[in-house]
Amino acid sequence: MLTWRPAPPGAGGSGGLEREAGTHAEGSPPQPSVSPPVDHGLAPPWPPVLVAEELLADGVVAAFPSRAGGLSRPPYDTCNLGLRVGDEPRAVLANRRRVATVLGLAGLPWATVRQVHGSTVAPVDLVSLPPGPPEAKPVVAEADALVTADEGVVLVVLVADCVPVLLADPERRVVAAAHAGWRGLAAGVVEATAAAFSAAGGRPSASAALVGPAAGPCCYEVGEDVRARVAGRYPEAAATTRAGRPALDLAAAARAALTQAGFERPLLAGECTVHQPERHFSYRRDGGMGRQAGIVALVPGREVGRSPALARLREVGQSRALDGLRSDEGAAGDEGATREASARSGEGPPTVSVKRRR
Ligand SMILES: [Zn+2]
Repeated sequence: MLTWRPAPPGAGGSGGLEREAGTHAEGSPPQPSVSPPVDHGLAPPWPPVLVAEELLADGVVAAFPSRAGGLSRPPYDTCNLGLRVGDEPRAVLANRRRVATVLGLAGLPWATVRQVHGSTVAPVDLVSLPPGPPEAKPVVAEADALVTADEGVVLVVLVADCVPVLLADPERRVVAAAHAGWRGLAAGVVEATAAAFSAAGGRPSASAALVGPAAGPCCYEVGEDVRARVAGRYPEAAATTRAGRPALDLAAAARAALTQAGFERPLLAGECTVHQPERHFSYRRDGGMGRQAGIVALVPGREVGRSPALARLREVGQSRALDGLRSDEGAAGDEGATREASARSGEGPPTVSVKRRR
């Protein structure tokens, strides 16, 4: 299941900069004002993430962050993760670190690709990642998908209407991420990713396949020719917009490709980026500003203890329920598991809890 944690943006206390003291989610005590932020007038809540909860216990983080909970200014507001869309790099880095922190992946290197709407899959391993800050290393290749069997590498595809696809075999320890627009789907990027995933040791029938938020059939209008081209490969993708124009259902196409590749029950986020402006960036709607992401990583187990970030991840992750997630930056009044973990780690972000299988 894909679940918004701590809550979907705009749904009471976790999205946007406008939240004020005392207007927290129903049933929660009034929240005190948060401490002054670095360079804005008000600290944003931590980024909400759409996360695959079942995988956390198996040491896999697979998530789709929203556009909320970041530091970027309009039109990149607020959690833009794209470094090459004209946003201020410092804000993007801060956003990436915020997302990594919430996912319990702080300090781990991000692997990204120069996405070109093709079907190339880039194999990634820890030792050959280019040098640079963990969240801002140069791209590893020109490609539209990544696969790794290394723990501690964060695979990231950037999207704004295209569909992000994440694969994970928790037992064999293989993960993959793909970015698929209509061109990529027509080129077979999902099949190529599934093949690379299998070649790396992943077993589709024993793996999770997640299809993240994308432009929905309700909004993704295309020409007749494009619809025919993609539907020729995936009949399920043929759709019609609410206005009666030819359209594509990218998520349905991705699901069809995954099912054909042997993934038994792909999970679909079922969210439309175009008509959910409070949750998602949309190229169609906004003209190509911010980017959200599909993120998947094998949480390090054997390496735990070598770095403060990993040690903290393990400490926080052993027994903390996801329900302990809160949107406050360690503010007073933040009770329960998160507070305990925060007190011990000396800082206050909520963290997606990860428990390693023994
Ligand atoms: Zn829509």
